[in-house]
Parts: sequence; structure tokens; C-alpha cells
Amino acid sequence: NTETDATLIGKHEVLPMYQSREKFSHKGTYGHALILGGSYGKIGATLLASRAALVSGAGLVTTFVPKCGYSILQTALPEAMVITDKDENLITDISFDIAPKVIGLGIGMGTAAKSATALEKFLKSNTAPLVIDADGINIISKKKTVLKLLPKQTVLTPHPKELECLIGKWKDDFDKLEKVKVFSKKYDSIIVIKGANTITVYNEKYYVNTTGNPGLATAGTGDVLTGVITGLIAQGYDPLQATLFGVYLHGKSADIAIEDLGYQSLIASHVVETLGEAYLDLF
Ligand code: AMP
Ligand code: MG
Repeated sequence: NTETDATLIGKHEVLPMYQSREKFSHKGTYGHALILGGSYGKIGATLLASRAALVSGAGLVTTFVPKCGYSILQTALPEAMVITDKDENLITDISFDIAPKVIGLGIGMGTAAKSATALEKFLKSNTAPLVIDADGINIISKKKTVLKLLPKQTVLTPHPKELECLIGKWKDDFDKLEKVKVFSKKYDSIIVIKGANTITVYNEKYYVNTTGNPGLATAGTGDVLTGVITGLIAQGYDPLQATLFGVYLHGKSADIAIEDLGYQSLIASHVVETLGEAYLDLF
């Protein structure tokens, strides 16, 4: 029954999840997040996600991009470390010698055969928790054998088109929720159905977010969400809490941002900038 299994997520629900910052902590305390994606002309997606992961509070962020992203990231985001693929324009070989606490991947990476093969190969050996978005979702949707490689409680953040890739066409909203529930159970994954009133599905339960506004209907806001959730997992939030808290903070940040900017002029970067105010608004 959809009604009884649904929980509204507002300030009251996320406040108990909040993890305070300890006096004797250091950057290692708050985890190392890896953001992986990008392709020629879409490095901005990884920049937004990496900045969002840092602003959400991750201790360290490394960004894995094709070579063409190197100077862009090192210039625009000096706080992040950068690892590059051997290819100039695409992700073709995912290998690195760091041990990130969590990996947020798929944003801006395209669906080229070389990139799909690289991602599939990577999933066979990966053990880190994952947040998968955008073209990462489009790639893994194609093969059941690849979906089976996902670690438990992998977070998937599809927008409507990506969701259709993942679960196929649905008849109505009820049918959509049922299909997502079946998928979530089958692969033990946490699915974020993005849009107005974003719904997170996991373990027979639906969580309906109460923050956010149509100002978010603009390029790059999804990449910011991926970064926030990844950054929260890096800090030690479990994947479901990171997802519910991340979706809440992302929406709240947009709600705060439009007070000064209005719906039309909000862009994804603003959502990163006001994230701190969304945290402060909790208290
Ligand atoms: P993406 O399409 O991947 O860039 O993700 C868009 C982000 O903006 C998601 O977090 C959506 O939930 C959010 N969003 C898009 N349109 C709306 C809307 N009309 N109201 C509230 N949030 C929205
Ligand atoms: Mg997106």
C-alpha cells in the first residue's frame, strides 16, 4: 500500500541524521570522495559535482576525468585533486591508485562504446559504495549482468528519461512506483526518482521530499545532487540517510537561492553556493 509506506521528508526527519563536526577531527575524518565522469564539452558536470561534494563537507575530493578536463578542474576548483584517463576526450580506462570511501560516477561521461566497456570492467573489480547518475545509469541499464555487479545499496539518481532506460515505460505514477520498487528490491539499490517532489525508494518504502522548486529545472542541478549525496557518504552517512538528507539539502538550498534570484535566474552553481545556508537553516 503506497500511502502507508510513504514518509514525507522535511527538517524534522533529517535533523536527527545530522552529524556534527568534531573539534579534534581532520580532513581524513570526513572521507575521500571520488567523482568520475566527463567528456569533451561536458567537463562542467564533474566540476559541479566535485564542488558540491566539497561544499557538502567531504574531507577530500578527487575528480577522475578525460585528459581534456585536467586544466579546467585544476583552475576552477583548486581544492580538488585530479586524475586523468589516458584518453583526451572520453573515459576509456578506469584505474587509479587511491582508495576512495565512495565514488559518484556517470555525469557528463557520454555513452560511447569505449566508455561503457570501461565502466563495465571497472564494476567487476570495484568494492567502494557507488552513486550512479546520468550516462552512468544509461550505460548500466543496457545489461542485467552489469546491474548484478552493483554493490549493495548503490544509489541511482535518474531523471525521467534515465529512469525509463532503467525500468522501461510505465503506464501511470502508481505503475512507475511499483516498477521502481521491484527494481530496488531485485538489485538492492536506492532509487531517487527526480523531479518536483523527488521520491526515494528503498526496502519497500517511499520517501517524498518536501524541499525544492521549479528553479531547479535548469542544466547541472542533477550533477550538484550527485555531488552532495557522494559527499555525505564520504563523511560517514549511510547511503539511505545520505540520499534523503542530500535530496533535502539540495532542494532547501534552491529554496533559499530563489529568494534573492527568482526562479528564472537560478543556475546550478547557485545551488552549490547556498548549500551552507541550507545546513544552517536546520538549527
Ligand atoms: P537533472 O535533470 O539530472 O539535471 O536533475 C534535475 C534536478 O532538479 C533534480 O534534482 C530534480 O529533482 C530537480 N528538479 C527538476 N525540475 C524540478 C521541479 N519542477 N521542481 C523541483 N525540482 C526539480
Ligand atoms: Mg542529470
